[in-house]
Amino acid sequence: MTSRSVDEHAEIVRQLLSPALTPASEAVAVPDSLGRVLADDVRAPIDLPVFRNSQMDGYAVAAASLLEAPVSLPVTATVAAGDAGPERLTPGTAVKIMTGAPVPLDADCVVPVEDTDSDGDVVRIHASRRSGEFVRDRGSDVTAGTLLLAAGATLTARHLAMLAAVGLAEVPVRRRPRFAVIATGAELMPPGSSLGPGQIFESNSVALAAAVRANGGDAVLVGHSTDVPDRFRDLLGRAVDAADVVITSGGVSMGDFEVVREVLTPLGGWFGHVAMQPGGPQGLTTVDGVPVLSFPGNPVSTLVSFEVFARAELRRCAGLAPVPTDRATLTVPVRSPSGKRQFLRGRRVPGGVTLESGPGSHLVAALARADVLLDIPEDVTTMQTGDDVQVWEL
Ligand code: AMP
Ligand code: MG
Repeated sequence: MTSRSVDEHAEIVRQLLSPALTPASEAVAVPDSLGRVLADDVRAPIDLPVFRNSQMDGYAVAAASLLEAPVSLPVTATVAAGDAGPERLTPGTAVKIMTGAPVPLDADCVVPVEDTDSDGDVVRIHASRRSGEFVRDRGSDVTAGTLLLAAGATLTARHLAMLAAVGLAEVPVRRRPRFAVIATGAELMPPGSSLGPGQIFESNSVALAAAVRANGGDAVLVGHSTDVPDRFRDLLGRAVDAADVVITSGGVSMGDFEVVREVLTPLGGWFGHVAMQPGGPQGLTTVDGVPVLSFPGNPVSTLVSFEVFARAELRRCAGLAPVPTDRATLTVPVRSPSGKRQFLRGRRVPGGVTLESGPGSHLVAALARADVLLDIPEDVTTMQTGDDVQVWEL
């Protein structure tokens, strides 16, 4: 069986994924754009506020007519939000105005209703005010043509508020690459069902689909396969029709009933060993022009394979920043097999990182408690407390 280093295999996978994961953009409705990555810069098509308007319920007046306050002024009109209102204020009068209503020309301040008394026709204003008080000027928030958001921004609720406020119905966002996921194994049962002898709950398709979504992709679930080749072939056909990339889990190692290897080898697939732990058995095929990454079935192996071979290319295509690698201090000693790059599950603690249980690739609950992978180089067999280790953020 052929064997490769992690870097060799990662580069071969990258070259296969790269043309299948060409960044593209699409227009989506602003209310549906939460969490999407902006594909182009967005500039303000209009000024905000759109027109000069009142910040208070009260009376629009000229500050100059309040110099001798307290004063009484005739009320010539009432303007509600949504009214056009009088264009101009007659000197020496007041216009009753609601929050958000247009302030007439020649009025330069709004006196809050609680600082006045009125019988309806006349308003008594108790104190003088500064020009501009409680008036929101046109364009004081943003002016037309200003850059609102730069390409690459991940859209939040606040961003959506702004985009809607300037009147945009759609925004250009990065298309989410589609990853189909096929879990294989005769022993697998859907969560929520009851287990018979020898059966376990299927978790890899759940994990991989979630990892795809968390990194800017869309997951296409085509159902899980037994170890019967025809069943796998059927799901594979649906997957390559629907997706940019297919990920399979299980059925790639050296046992009997390795359905993925059995079906994909005659299609030109590479199946071999990558010098890593977990995730040693790996496969790679192109089916109808669609890359098919075949990960081993142990739950930790599958997710570590995703981290090491798929995550970076997916994020690049989705327009998301690369996940930074980091160095951290070991708070415990570590042993690692020689000749294999080991990705141990770790957790950040005060002063560095600790191990989250042992190296067994079935330890899915321990993986859930981890927040980093410790990347131990191939040639390293022991590391001491206080040593510096490379970590991958999960
Ligand atoms: P395989 O790579 O198919 O030999 O599977 C290796 C181990 O992972 C076995 O113990 C399987 O039962 C388990 N396994 C395989 N696929 C899944 C899955 N989708 N969900 C949970 N465990 C799995
Ligand atoms: Mg299996």
